[in-house]
Amino acid sequence: MIAVDIASDLDRVLHTEQQVLTRIAEVAAQIDADYEGREPLIVGVLNGAMMTVSDLTRAMTSHCEVDWMAVSSYGSGTRSSGVVRILKDLTTDISGRHVLIAEDIVDTGLTLSYLVKNLRNREPASLEVMTMFRKPDAMTCPVNLKYVGFDIPNEFVVGYGLDYSGRYRNLRDVATLAPHVYS
Ligand code: 5GP
Repeated sequence: MIAVDIASDLDRVLHTEQQVLTRIAEVAAQIDADYEGREPLIVGVLNGAMMTVSDLTRAMTSHCEVDWMAVSSYGSGTRSSGVVRILKDLTTDISGRHVLIAEDIVDTGLTLSYLVKNLRNREPASLEVMTMFRKPDAMTCPVNLKYVGFDIPNEFVVGYGLDYSGRYRNLRDVATLAPHVYS
């Protein structure tokens, strides 16, 4: 679906699908260049990063592998619970591998700093992070983000894999929700 299909649910569109795809192609080109001669293992963080990983890897022109982790940091609302749990672990042994975590969004940075610590203990050859969206004003846990798609305001957004109560992941654009959706 696109924003006009659910216009009454939305407040405003922050980035259209086309803007997201254009930016992801730039990030993919940078990753291709940086990883020349080293095949990265892209670790997608489910469920939010599903679109990011599929578009990023298809925009790359060099080989990569993909594996997935699922973590929970939020309940069904819009505030961080402060608790990170691994719901699904990797199937790949990452020791000695060049690992690139692909995130949908970094808000406080809590989820990511937990993930980085966890994966670093498994002794990868290198470990970097790509996120499609970052909220610079919300970050409380500093994490080194090598690749960032867009910086966005400190507001709750949906679309491009990001949900509210399970919905809106299939919205192609990235938007804020109208207040009546929360009530
Ligand atoms: P953090 O630990 O950085 O505060 O939050 C990271 C996770 O919270 C993201 O991977 C995502 O699942 C969720 N999250 C943070 N901000 C947003 C947002 O604006 N919209 C949605 N849908 N999820 C968010």
